[in-house]
Amino acid sequence: WLQLATPLNFLGFAYREIKQGITDIETMFELLDKDAEVKDRPGAPALDVREGRVTFENVVFNYDPDRPILQGLSFDVPAGRTVAIVGPSGAGKSTISRLLFRFYDVNGGRVMIDGQDVREVTQKSLRAAIGMVPQDTVLFNDTIRYNIRYGRWDATDAEVEEAARLAQIDTFIRRMPKGYETEVGERGLKLSGGEKQRVAIARTILKGPPVLVLDEATSALDSYTEMEIQAALERISENRTTLVIAHRLSTVVNADEIIVLDKGVIVERGNHEELLAFGGVYAGMWNRQREADEAREKLQRTQDDA
Ligand code: ADP
Ligand code: MG
Repeated sequence: WLQLATPLNFLGFAYREIKQGITDIETMFELLDKDAEVKDRPGAPALDVREGRVTFENVVFNYDPDRPILQGLSFDVPAGRTVAIVGPSGAGKSTISRLLFRFYDVNGGRVMIDGQDVREVTQKSLRAAIGMVPQDTVLFNDTIRYNIRYGRWDATDAEVEEAARLAQIDTFIRRMPKGYETEVGERGLKLSGGEKQRVAIARTILKGPPVLVLDEATSALDSYTEMEIQAALERISENRTTLVIAHRLSTVVNADEIIVLDKGVIVERGNHEELLAFGGVYAGMWNRQREADEAREKLQRTQDDA
């Protein structure tokens, strides 16, 4: 009965989370065969990932017919490269990741991975190919080891610990009296936002998906935690097709392409240097964020001196 206990516990958890407004898309899809708005085409083949190139071709999308969200969006993430999407809240950034997962179907254009339309392949194979590090990570009421292994159930203990090390959470785990067997979640040890995010990164490292989607935390993490997370994210996105939805511009400086989205259209695109030199929307965002950072640091120094 031990084998049964775990999945049941798992489902109970999922339902509670969904009621609270779940943000971990993968969890939701894996656990719930929710009344799908999208369905597999009869006899649809599995996605055949060859290199992991992601393509949005003239994508038009709206949730409600009278309110356009994405209005003809085209971009390409070449295999192994990183594309960042930035822009104001409500611009349609998270919608892009939902369409890549085929949470919804497009109203026009195509979303493709290695030239295969996401509507033509099984959802299971599509979602197996994509790893998501969400803004808010859902932790199960179980051990930290279980929470990391969730990325790939057949991973060995050594692999779990290696993933934790790469995600820069291993030292933290080992400092706890019960180490990897520490219970976390609602009924166990509460982890901070930054710690939870690193658990999510460790999961994703274990999963090793060819395509990665990162939706970065908006919450003001302290700058040390942010640096650590940043290092961990850079590590998993290395040589992996990565779509990063970035709130902190410091994280997009090295992206191969930065797309500035506003009201569902691309208003600027280029790399960091090009966009700064252009002196438009991105440059404005960059300067404002730098000023805010400097003000915060100054305040911090004043407090430290006092
Ligand atoms: P961003 O991630 O850039 O902040 P989103 O992609 O989440 O923006 O949302 C883009 C727009 O779509 C917003 O105006 C939002 O209110 C709307 N929207 C998001 N999800 C839904 C939904 N499920 N139903 C209707 N409108 C939605
Ligand atoms: Mg969003």
